[in-house]
Amino acid sequence: MATFKDFRNKIKPNWCPGCGDFSIQAAIQRAAANVGLEPEDVAIVSGIGCSGRISGYIHAYGFHGIHGRALPIAQGLKMANRELTVIASGGDGDGFAIGMGHTVHAIRRNMNITYIVMDNQIYGLTKGQTSPRSAFGFKTKSTPEGSVEDALSPLELAMAAGATFVAQSVSSNIKQLTRLIEEGIKHDGFSFINVFSPCVTFNKINTYDWFKEHIVDLDEEEAYDRSNRTLAMTKIMETGSLACGLIYQDQTKKSYEQVVSGFKPEPLAKQDIQLTKKQFEQL
Ligand code: SF4
Ligand code: MG
Repeated sequence: MATFKDFRNKIKPNWCPGCGDFSIQAAIQRAAANVGLEPEDVAIVSGIGCSGRISGYIHAYGFHGIHGRALPIAQGLKMANRELTVIASGGDGDGFAIGMGHTVHAIRRNMNITYIVMDNQIYGLTKGQTSPRSAFGFKTKSTPEGSVEDALSPLELAMAAGATFVAQSVSSNIKQLTRLIEEGIKHDGFSFINVFSPCVTFNKINTYDWFKEHIVDLDEEEAYDRSNRTLAMTKIMETGSLACGLIYQDQTKKSYEQVVSGFKPEPLAKQDIQLTKKQFEQL
């Protein structure tokens, strides 16, 4: 049986020392091993950004996609090979700006994919611009006088889109994050996990200390019924979207694979597909 070390490869990440993305990489590797997967069972699909490099740093199948398009690629992979555990990841700019349309529709489609947003509340790769997750008044090169827009709430967005699994964590809490990724992988449907991942180089506001002071760890709070949508929304609103832990899970809604007829359980490569000459020519 594989251990987390089997999900390591020889590539040294070129993230800045202290970047939150290191812990997310480690949490994915640990979670995959903990749920009994082998590297060949897993595909990591990423978008563009510092976060996008993650697909190259894990020993599994990897696809470094294009900006904002990790989710369409991940869904295509899942449709072609239902046996794969597909994990999509990308930054807040990737998922909530250029890729926003895909994010909303992938959530409501409820395909068996785990989507991890590496949320640093800024554009890191392009050296520090305001993202849809930057707070009102946040000063960067693109908003030198402060952002005039409010930050988007990933949790409210996911709930509004009809997510069946909504969780949030912070990269400094690798134990909680690993557990949430494990639960997300096991969830039958789309699992949305937003992870605060401090950009130590360009975001001097939302630091590890800032999160330590501001997040509300649901694991330390009184338990509530996680399948209750109203309670989950209340928790999100009460904490200003800073709740960490499993926030909402609906285990009754059928996944896309269950609903769509003709979605065969075995990979396309193993299916005996006989195309007619006309179908072949239309490919
Ligand atoms: Fe991480 Fe920020 Fe450095 Fe990118 S620029 S690797 S997000 S610390
Ligand atoms: Mg970002």
